[in-house]
This record gives sequence, structure tokens and C-alpha cells, in this order.
Amino acid sequence: MNEHVKQLRNQLDGVDQQLLVLLSERVRIAGAIGQTIESLGLPKNDPAEEKRALNEITKHNPGPIDQAALERLFKEIYALSRERPQTGGGRKLLVSRQTKSEDTIIRVKNAVFGGGSHVLIAGPCSVESREQLRAMAAAMKSVGVGIMRGGAFKPRTSPYDFQGLGLEGLKMLKEVADEYDMVTISEIMTPSQLESAAEYIDIIQIGARNMQNYDLLKAVGQTNMPVLLKRGIAATLDEFVLAAEYIMASGNEQVLLIERGIRTYEKWTRNTLDISAVPLLKQETHLPVLVDVSHSTGRKDILLPCAKAALAAGADGIMVETHPNPQAALSDAAQQINIDEFYSFWGGLRGSGLYKSAE
Ligand code: PEP
Ligand code: MN
Repeated sequence: MNEHVKQLRNQLDGVDQQLLVLLSERVRIAGAIGQTIESLGLPKNDPAEEKRALNEITKHNPGPIDQAALERLFKEIYALSRERPQTGGGRKLLVSRQTKSEDTIIRVKNAVFGGGSHVLIAGPCSVESREQLRAMAAAMKSVGVGIMRGGAFKPRTSPYDFQGLGLEGLKMLKEVADEYDMVTISEIMTPSQLESAAEYIDIIQIGARNMQNYDLLKAVGQTNMPVLLKRGIAATLDEFVLAAEYIMASGNEQVLLIERGIRTYEKWTRNTLDISAVPLLKQETHLPVLVDVSHSTGRKDILLPCAKAALAAGADGIMVETHPNPQAALSDAAQQINIDEFYSFWGGLRGSGLYKSAE
């Protein structure tokens, strides 16, 4: 090849490298501006600001690029800078799809979370007795549902309400789960509960109220147990994703996200199920995404349509609170469904054609 052309091509490569460095720097700064603006509660996109910046560029155009082409090019660059955050000051997050494009699949015994199949998690709000757990476990296993939830450390709004059976409750949960060969999920509220609790449960739940308890997130991040992280009561998706990042950044890759409704002005439901969170979290992260239809709605009559909506939106599974005798439940009595209601909910979900079992 002609030596001169070769030289010019080398020069071009050098310019491209510099452009890349500058473009990356631009995206990083734009991300930092976006984060600050967001934390101040201001609108993220400012068309007037983009127009001003574009005017500056075209005013100082040294040629030979014509004005229209320059505008097109910079509009493209602005769009690039506006793309979804690299939340965390431009850093690529471990939870992000940009870091890992394939779905994270979490296997716990014979349960599979993520990767295209679905799971149903059922069980009481609180562990209350062996009899209660046995009745529920028998009903669940009779229809092939093998993942049981049950809280023993309960985060209650009032200090005078039932606070859970603590470690004794977890022992009961394990005893019954072993009898019925089930996978268990239960919440822990402090790092100090973690070590003893880990012996008795398969999946640790971090409750909505503790989503931003960073010491707890770091502590579960240092275990090798799967963690079901609930979205905070008023958490933005950025905050939710960054809470998951805490767990991953501490070394634990087994994180499951669960949308459980957020607090809005709406009173007909206990919380507002943010269904758009499902496709967004699936798009932006590689983690399994579940939907808790009980705490989001707080009512029994719309569980099935909400669960169907969740699956249609791409959720990897559903959590529903069930109790052999909901009227007598020591927590969340109004939203838990009884065994017959559970059978019909499960039948409806499977009958919808949306639910896909593993295997
Ligand atoms: C629960 O799952 O029982 C619970 C307390 O849920 P949340 O943390 O979503 O309120
Ligand atoms: Mn509950």
C-alpha cells in the first residue's frame, strides 16, 4: 500500500481512539449530571439545554463538516449520553445487562429461578405453628408447589403487633420443609440474625423496609445464599437496582428481585403494583424478577389478574401469601388466601397458558 495512505490511516486510527476517549468521558459526565438532577427531583431531559449546546457547536464549526450533518451527529451523541444510566456515576454495574447479557439463573434444590421458566412461591405471612405450616405445605405439595415462604422475624409497623417467632419459627419452617421436601424463604432483619438463620432456610429475604439497610445488604452479600430482595416501599428503580448492587459488590451473585408495590396516593390497593418495573428490570438487569401480588395489592380479589399481568410483562415468578385459616392469621390477615382460594388461584394461573414450569 502507498506509504502516505498508510500513514494517514494510522493517523485516523489515532483520532478515532481520541474520539472514543472523549465520547466516553462525555457519557460519564452526562451520567453524573443526570444523577445529580434526579436527586434534586428535577426533570432528567432538558431539550432547551440540548438546543443551547447544539447552537454552540454549530457556531464554532470549523468545517469541513456541513452544519446539517454536524447537527445530526451531535444529536446522536446527545442521545447516547441520555441512555439509561450506568447508575453509580458512569460505572458499569454488576447487576446490569450491559455487564452480563445472559439471564442469571438461580437453582435452589429443584427450584429454578430465571431463564424462561416460572416459579410460584406460596406460604403464610408469618410462621405461627407447626400445624399451620404442615397444613399449608401439604396443600402446596399436593398441587406441585414446592417453594414456601414464612416470616419469623417480622418487620411490623406497630411495636405492639406480633413480631414473629424468631429462630424458633425458622426451626419449625425447616422441620416442615424437610418433611415435605420444600425450598424455604424467610426474612432476616439484622446482620446478627444472619448466621443462625442461614442454617434453617434456603433463601434469605430482605424486606421492603430493609432494602436500604446497607450493612444488612453487605452482610448477605458476603454469604453464598440466594437473596430475595424486595423493592423498598418508596424506592425508585435506581435505588432498587443499587441495593441489589450492594449484594453483588460484596461477592454474592445470587440475587432475586421482587416488585412488591410502592406507596402512592391510591387507596384501593395497599400499595401500587408497578407493573412497568418488571420489563424495565428485566431489560436493565440480568437478575430474575418476581412479583409479590399479595403485598402489592393487599387484597384477595385481584390476585389472579395481577399475577397474569406480571407473567405477561416478563416476570420469572409470583409470590402469594396463603394461610390455612387467614381470619386467624397473626399478620396480614386481610390479604392471605385460604387453601381453596390458593387452589383456584394456582389453577387459574396455570390455566392461563402464561405459566411455564421448569423441566
Ligand atoms: C413479607 O413478605 O411478609 C413482608 C413483610 O413484605 P414486605 O417487606 O414487602 O412488606
Ligand atoms: Mn405479609
